[in-house]
Amino acid sequence: MSARRGEIMKELGLKRWRARSKNIEPLPPHPAAANTVAETESAPELSLDERATQIMRMDWPRLKDSVAGCVACPLHQGRNKTVFGVGDEHASWLFVGEGPGAEEDLKGEPFVGQAGRLLDNMLAAIQLKRGKDVYIANIVKCRPPGNRAPEPLEAAQCEPYLHRQIELIKPKLIVALGKVAAVNLLQREASIASLRGRVHAYRGIPLIVTYHPAYLLRNLPGKAEAWVDLCFAVDTMHGLKNTPAAAT
Ligand code: SF4
Repeated sequence: MSARRGEIMKELGLKRWRARSKNIEPLPPHPAAANTVAETESAPELSLDERATQIMRMDWPRLKDSVAGCVACPLHQGRNKTVFGVGDEHASWLFVGEGPGAEEDLKGEPFVGQAGRLLDNMLAAIQLKRGKDVYIANIVKCRPPGNRAPEPLEAAQCEPYLHRQIELIKPKLIVALGKVAAVNLLQREASIASLRGRVHAYRGIPLIVTYHPAYLLRNLPGKAEAWVDLCFAVDTMHGLKNTPAAAT
């Protein structure tokens, strides 16, 4: 083990690699993108379906502009900056969190501050780096007040943006960080304990669930479980890269 890797493992409170066996669920087919409606900017008076249809036609620049000016849910009222997402726009790995916190809201970038540093160390532990074959985003792009979880309406209004990002990135694997990310991506209520350790799917893309770094900062025993999840994710990614047809 290299000195750097040793430091990372120490940071994570872990001593050794623990691999899990794969338990992959069948993946549903990936739906075709709706792509037949003229482009316009998002507007609060549009229905959810109309907004979603328009957003699904956007390229990266238009999508970023649309998010920057979005007022489609009440979260826009308290934000300093929208937090669009960051990283390699053709990444194999997509990590999805819950929503921006105070520091993210000020900087306009997801996962900065203490939880962000832990996420960076988690990535480094599996030889990944922010921005290099990795993209990081959140369920909502504006900070919920008091760091509360996004309300269902807020998450629903913001979901088309993340959906479009995923369509453009085409990641091989999504890692949902925390229960809020998991239940919003999977569109079903479940405990994080019941979701960990299996491969789910978001619109046909394999998805794994682990804890949110902010939770891990408060719950040190969870770091060992998160490490198991990361090993499982690496194992799953290796399988996907060796059998490309399984990811489509
Ligand atoms: Fe728009 Fe999403 Fe911000 Fe709500 S959270 S205002 S839907 S960008």
